[in-house]
This record gives sequence, structure tokens and C-alpha cells, in this order.
Amino acid sequence: MTLVDVINLFDTDEKCRELLVRLRWPRGVECPRCKMAVVELATAKQLFYCKECDYQFSVTASTIFNDSHLPLQKWFLATLLLCESRKGMSANQIKRTLGVSYKTAWYLCHRIRAAMKEAERPMLDGTVEMDETFVGGKWRGAGSGGRAKSEKEIVIGIRQRGGDLRLFHAEHVTSGELAKYIKENVSADVDVIMTDEWQGYPKAMIQAGVHKDQHKTIRHKEKIYVQGDIYTNTVESAFSLLKRGIMGTWHKISAKHLAAYLAEMEFRFNRRKRSDLFIDTLRHMVTAPVLTFEKLTA
Ligand SMILES: [Zn+2]
Repeated sequence: MTLVDVINLFDTDEKCRELLVRLRWPRGVECPRCKMAVVELATAKQLFYCKECDYQFSVTASTIFNDSHLPLQKWFLATLLLCESRKGMSANQIKRTLGVSYKTAWYLCHRIRAAMKEAERPMLDGTVEMDETFVGGKWRGAGSGGRAKSEKEIVIGIRQRGGDLRLFHAEHVTSGELAKYIKENVSADVDVIMTDEWQGYPKAMIQAGVHKDQHKTIRHKEKIYVQGDIYTNTVESAFSLLKRGIMGTWHKISAKHLAAYLAEMEFRFNRRKRSDLFIDTLRHMVTAPVLTFEKLTA
């Protein structure tokens, strides 16, 4: 799907709604309130009416699109732009491209991003790389243990070679926290987890129930980056994309919204080879719960 396709195929609100109806209710329209299928198209404005509970609703009711006054075509265009840019796109860029206010663009981006948050994250398996990095903020000189103390935020990345990526905004890189991410995301019978020599990992592996034979370490401090099949370059390449995204498009992102940006990055990264990325994103948007402006700015 290209920008030209979206402009041509979805040039009216009606055509956009038709697609959303198919994506939201593949087995036929169902009332969001009572879940009954006794609905009929009530008006020319494509409102549905439920005969069971007397509820009138549109395809966008109780979804990410809820209460939006923006034409659906602009929503579709913004979605395509966010899907197609590998490093993401800033609200300022969306504002200029779509000709909307900054506030509208900002809220729009956040709602699309919220829909990209994965509900299902299958356990990673096979050969898994795990690493940590720091984003945003400023360095404040070196702290104890060789890790610099900073105002930067910690991002943990776990990536299955040839498989999915997971990104997390972490509080600390203690063994306890690392163990939690391993337990929640890596299959117990993983072949091997590759990490650098950070002292938190060996203990984290024990806490997560990973046998020491399943953990291999690359010694970055000794400037060794690849030793046979031991390396963490695959997860690091995802980090570099994330950092270029943060520097180039989002500028200074706040710690509060970092998890949402990571979810967007992860969603797009794990689907980068899929031809239905745009449609799949719309499907998520029309099935994800409402994100109110109040909740976003709370
Ligand atoms: Zn109903």
C-alpha cells in the first residue's frame, strides 16, 4: 500500500468506513454494547442501530478513533506514514504533511501508537540476544560499577535471531529486573541467551531459571564483538534504529511516553517484511480500546 493507493482507494469517509467495518467485524456487524448481531444500518451516515438494546453506534465507536472529528482519510494517511517510516515520524512532521494543528497531530500519533501496543507477545525461543542501552537525557559522569550515572532512560532489548524483537523501558539494570524480563519473554527451553559481560546477567539467569549452559557472554570491554556465533549485534542493530528515530524524528521524548514509542518501534520492526502492515495496523486501531486525551495527559 502506497500513499497514492491510500489517496485513491480511500478518498471518501464512506470507503474508509467500509474497510473498518470489515476489519472490526469480519463475521458481520455486532453491537459493541450487548454483542448481539441484530443490527441494521440506520442512517446514511453509516450509523448502526441495535434492535436488542436500542443502541446506535458507528464503526469507530469505542475504538482508538472514538470521538475524533478528523476525517478518516487523514487518519488513514497518518497511519500509513507511521507504518512506512522505519524510524517513526514526529507529530510536527504529521502536522505539516496533513495540514492539521500540532495538538491534533500529537494526539493522533499517540492514538495510533497506543493501538500498536501488542496484546500478544509470544515467548522468544532459539537463539536470543539481550542487551541494554540508554536513550534521551544527558550523561552525568561515571558512577560506580563502570556504568555511567545519567538522566538517561534505560531500554532493555531482547531479540530472537530470525524472529521478534521486544523493547522495554526499565527502571534499573539490576539482576532482579533483568530476570523479570527474561522470565516474561524468553521460553524456558531457549537454546541460548547471548549477552555482554554486565555483572547483573549471571545472577539474572539463575533467578530466571536459565541454566548456565544456556547463557553465553561476549566481552565487549575487551573489544570483542563477535566470537563464533556469540554476539549481540542483532539486538544492537535494533537499538541503533531506535536511537536514530529518537534523535531524528521525535527529538526529546519524555520518559512518560517512552514505553509507547518503544511499542511503536517494536510493532513496526516485527512486521517490517509484511505486505499487510497498513491493514494490520488499522485492524489493531479498530479493535484497541479508547485512549482519551485526559488519560494521555494525566
Ligand atoms: Zn445491542
